[in-house]
Amino acid sequence: MTTSREEVVSLLDQLVRIESVTPWLIPDGSGERNVAQFMATWLEAAGLEVLLDDVTPGRPNMLARLRGSQPGPTLCINAHSDTVGYANWADRALNPWVDGDRMYGLGVVDDKASCAAAMLALRDLVRDKVPLKGDVLLACVIDEEGTSIGTEHLVKNHSIDAAIVIEPAALPIVVTEHQGFGWIDITVFGKASHGSTPDEGIDAIVHMAEVIRALHQLDEREWKNNPDPLNGRTVFHTGTIHGGTDYATYPSQVVLGIEIGTQPGETLANRVSEIEAIFVEIRKEFPDFKAEIDVKVDRDPFVGAGLDDLLAAFDSASREVLGKPADQQGLNAWTDAALLQSAGIPTILIGPLGGNLHSPYEWADIPEVVQTVDLLKSTIVNFLR
Ligand SMILES: [Zn+2]
Repeated sequence: MTTSREEVVSLLDQLVRIESVTPWLIPDGSGERNVAQFMATWLEAAGLEVLLDDVTPGRPNMLARLRGSQPGPTLCINAHSDTVGYANWADRALNPWVDGDRMYGLGVVDDKASCAAAMLALRDLVRDKVPLKGDVLLACVIDEEGTSIGTEHLVKNHSIDAAIVIEPAALPIVVTEHQGFGWIDITVFGKASHGSTPDEGIDAIVHMAEVIRALHQLDEREWKNNPDPLNGRTVFHTGTIHGGTDYATYPSQVVLGIEIGTQPGETLANRVSEIEAIFVEIRKEFPDFKAEIDVKVDRDPFVGAGLDDLLAAFDSASREVLGKPADQQGLNAWTDAALLQSAGIPTILIGPLGGNLHSPYEWADIPEVVQTVDLLKSTIVNFLR
């Protein structure tokens, strides 16, 4: 039996309406508990074994297990239940709507379409009593938009032999590697003094301007001109800046927060030494320049390994459901696939088409979400046959 467009739209509508903003990004975000509870209730009614697995108090991973009819490997389907914030479209974000083939709403494709597609796929497999050699473990994890403590907890506490991460992509793309990233604070130190005593003050903001200019030039010169063939241009942008105390005082400190990427084969240490080299150059012109680097988050790139069986299962599914072979690609974003693969679990990433991620008017392509349900079912059957 197949899943209808109406079922997909109805379930996705319900998931979007349950606010699950990750409190790591937005401190008054509701977190994942309510949406996890909804999914658990729905999946339990569909005949799955469910567990709300608290990662931190009140923030559970939602786990649903479909037991195979015979022993075999455990295939994990991983999607995330949290979203980013929605301040720029507060009136519409949680009231999803359909326009043609698109459904709009907060997290509709990142990543609630993935949760919905996996839920419907598992329900169908139970309902149709499909025999499987091995278990399917659906993990709708918390905090992917934060620091991924959900998938970290998952790989530490559960035995998994292979994983399919579902995130926005496009069918029939299968992602087998992607960039890593770091969140880094750069602090530039000046010297506070009265605004009318320039001989005493050191202007931290002026010095920071030199750092930003040099980073921007590095981005333009190196990363823009040398994109990775699979994973595109190395990520770099500034995110936050805080500094100074008042109009009348030389600023003694300014902190810049940046996001910066790494390609397979690189680590964040590569990026840190590039920033240190910038400091050396600035100091030649401004001898009293003083700065330090504080790495807040360091995530390695994803480089898939041991994927033969997974890729074969997905490729057959793609030929069967979409009439075309899988399209192997990279990605310039970071996902929890990196954590699963780093734990030694062969992992691929697939997902439906969407747009305006992390922005107002985020949308999901409804036909691709429906196809994702069928692709998942077929891939699971091929892998656990
Ligand atoms: Zn996502």
